[in-house]
Amino acid sequence: MSRFRMYPTRAQEEQMLEHCAHARYVWNLAVEQHSHWYRGRKAAPGFAEQCRQLTEARHDNEWLRAGNADVQQQALKDFNKAKAARFASGFGEPTWRKKFVHNGFRVIGTDRVPELQADGSPKLNAKSKQVMGRSVVVQKLNRHWAQVKVPGCGWVRFRLTRGDLPTAKTFRVTWRNGQWHIAFAVIPAPVPAPGTGEVIGIDRGVTITAALSDGRKLNCPQLTVREAAQVRKHQRRAARAPRGSERKAAGYAAVARLKAREADRRKDWCEKNSTMLSRTYDVIRFEKLNIRNMTRSAKGTVQEPGRNVRQKSGLNRVILAQGWGLLRQRTEHKALGRVEDVPAPYTSLRCSACGWIDKNSRKSQAEFCCSSCGFTCNADTNAATNVAAGQGGIPRPRSSAGAGGTTPPTQRSNVREPQPTRVGIPLF
Ligand SMILES: [Zn+2]
Repeated sequence: MSRFRMYPTRAQEEQMLEHCAHARYVWNLAVEQHSHWYRGRKAAPGFAEQCRQLTEARHDNEWLRAGNADVQQQALKDFNKAKAARFASGFGEPTWRKKFVHNGFRVIGTDRVPELQADGSPKLNAKSKQVMGRSVVVQKLNRHWAQVKVPGCGWVRFRLTRGDLPTAKTFRVTWRNGQWHIAFAVIPAPVPAPGTGEVIGIDRGVTITAALSDGRKLNCPQLTVREAAQVRKHQRRAARAPRGSERKAAGYAAVARLKAREADRRKDWCEKNSTMLSRTYDVIRFEKLNIRNMTRSAKGTVQEPGRNVRQKSGLNRVILAQGWGLLRQRTEHKALGRVEDVPAPYTSLRCSACGWIDKNSRKSQAEFCCSSCGFTCNADTNAATNVAAGQGGIPRPRSSAGAGGTTPPTQRSNVREPQPTRVGIPLF
């Protein structure tokens, strides 16, 4: 992906926000249209039919007519792509787009360039004439700056932070937390394997974000203590400010800015480390985590409220702040076909030297001492070594002492890691 920060002028920003509103409106109309479909009904309108309806709607509606037709049509194109990919993309059925959350629009390039076949020969149509494709109009200003043509805005500048000018058919502009970004629709070539045959195992945890089987420990950057205190301060003041006041809005905007900074740091960390992993190792093994299930809320229902809801929501927040999923996903993108998933049960309890599985081997969060052979190691490194070896042990915990021999039967699950003991300081 080629994504850059964009710096529009005030007038351009207004125009682009208008584009966002139009694209969102058209997308949501398409979502609504398709939501009326049910089994047995005639198919919901496809792209061509929707485009025809868009023309009609533009004719009847002055506000829509004032907007750019290409931007609106590309929103329909986006919707149809999302709809077609709903089983494979992992995002599911396309859903509503919200103001302030999903602000963005796609622009199709206005330049006409001859299209080429995969082997480099010119692409010809049935009458053996050259097929012309679209290309984005971009211009390099100097080493760090470039500009792109956005409909209705003229040239908009963006900061060229990596590589050369991208060539793409379309690009997408997004606005979030007061920042504009441009993403050119190009899929970069995957990183080639180094060919050393080296395998790395990665154990993802809360205390150490990613422990590697070579003993390295990688930690995802978070907000500093000072920044976290600022978040709490702004949240508190905003919560107490009168409803609809400027102070309230400003407080929540400050919180959003800080949270965006944290997300940026996390993303940067994931990108750098996934590149490092895909460049240095042939096979990269992650333990298989179902993060969605792990971060499920403990809230329960009104009739049956859950227990320890606040603690669980705090843990969920910590898990999601680690960027586990993103690291795995980006590594997969870069090291195409070289990422493997290892079943997670027992990776943290199995001795990486002799294979003995025992709950008592794990002395504390950091310490591992095998109760059978006496092998000592850092617990996370031990788990990562198991992951690199591609095994965690038997797939399901047994109720009897079959797995570990000395594990006493308890109410608790055997695969649970040792939990920190509570210090006697009441929180409330
Ligand atoms: Zn052992």
